[in-house]
Amino acid sequence: MENDELWSAVLSEVEIQVSRPNYLTWLKNSRLAKIEASGIAFVALPNHFAKEWVEAKYNKMILGLMRQHNEDVRKIEYVVEGTLTKAEKTKTSGVKAVPDKKQQIFQEMKVDPESNLNPRYTLSSYVVGSSNELVYSAASAVIDNIGTKYNPFFIYGGVGLGKTHLIQAIGNEIKIRHNNKIKVKYVTSEKFTNDVVWAIRNRRMEDIKTAYRQIDVLIIDDIQFIGGKEKTEEEFFHTFNALYETNKQIIISSDRSPKSLPILEERLRSRFEGGMIADIGYPEYETRVAIIKTKLQERGAQLPEPIINMIAEKAQRNIREIEGILTKVLFQQGSSHKEIDLSSAEKIVSEATQKSTANINPAHIINAVATFFQMSPNDIVGRARNKELIEPRQISVYLLRQMLNMSYPYIASKIGNRDHTTAIYSYKKISESITKDQNLNQKIASIKESLSKLG
Ligand code: ADP
Ligand code: MG
Repeated sequence: MENDELWSAVLSEVEIQVSRPNYLTWLKNSRLAKIEASGIAFVALPNHFAKEWVEAKYNKMILGLMRQHNEDVRKIEYVVEGTLTKAEKTKTSGVKAVPDKKQQIFQEMKVDPESNLNPRYTLSSYVVGSSNELVYSAASAVIDNIGTKYNPFFIYGGVGLGKTHLIQAIGNEIKIRHNNKIKVKYVTSEKFTNDVVWAIRNRRMEDIKTAYRQIDVLIIDDIQFIGGKEKTEEEFFHTFNALYETNKQIIISSDRSPKSLPILEERLRSRFEGGMIADIGYPEYETRVAIIKTKLQERGAQLPEPIINMIAEKAQRNIREIEGILTKVLFQQGSSHKEIDLSSAEKIVSEATQKSTANINPAHIINAVATFFQMSPNDIVGRARNKELIEPRQISVYLLRQMLNMSYPYIASKIGNRDHTTAIYSYKKISESITKDQNLNQKIASIKESLSKLG
């Protein structure tokens, strides 16, 4: 795999796991500069903030994903783009000069610095079905009656179900309808918190107050992150009141209802409850199909109907997951220059939809393997050397490494206290055979399936 190919595969997985603003802010303009023979991969980021943020927050995830594509990588060095040597840069510009479909896919429209709104989020690209028709009609009413009908307008729902899209679309629609005469501001609660903290430190609280109070429509995303910091909550409350009392529109999103926001002060909670509260649910199958078709249209891409239906049926977590899958499927289709077939697409979907391994521990894996092979977990971890134990042990090693990223010495100590080179050998053996041996592939898929029910 070429570096840029590998990196976009990694990014398309990262994209599913991190919030969209985080992805766009920190990761979108990143690049895999090189992989040294020593196993160090160099990832270039546009600036120092991005470098520090990605290093601190996402290194573990990125390393794990990277190793799934290239086992030789053992460490990642993050560098700021400008600090790379000349030779490396020339190499990149060579890569970039190749007309590249994938870049079109990743291209985002510019965020408006004044309102912080991304014009990509529009009402017309927001697909409405039974899971979100209530929230949608409330949104329309808010647009028609700014500040007077539903205030505040509080939207809640799970991750990746379209909260950010909808609240930004409301902002964009209001701006367009009123020819930019109404001042709309979108902030994440992280941004709001940062503003307040910065102002306190620099004794500029008055500036912040004035700035926020000039806004006609204030949109705050992911309010659940605001609590816990007394001063910001206090300031938010004052800003909220100042806007509310002058009939300015406030739109808030959250991952849970006001009732379940534990950190929220009672007076703020009751303010929220005084407005319109609406939730976004998970879209049903028909809506998922419609969403996939809309996304394809936006990207100027096409997929055969059976593949669209298969994705709609199997991607059951959220819409961000569906988008991540589409990116991968289209990427594969683009790089092979022919229409992707159903089974390759299915493979991508099943990899992407595998439940997170967050709740899985080594004992779960060993139990799952033992159950599959109808033996006792003690057989696998024990010291007996029967031939029928070889495969279950090798698969256990493989899964401990692949799913939990455990070190070989640790794995070796778990599985019959063997030498770590045995563990390395087992892992290699299985990861090589799995691509050729359909039977083995099937066994591992079933074991993973049983593990995913735990997740
Ligand atoms: P949330 O803020 O709830 O986590 P987002 O608004 O970021 O979710 O949505 C995740 C992705 O799914 C976005 O790219 C968004 O465009 C898309 N999306 C969500 N809901 C819809 C919808 N109803 N129609 C079209 N796209 C949607
Ligand atoms: Mg969001």
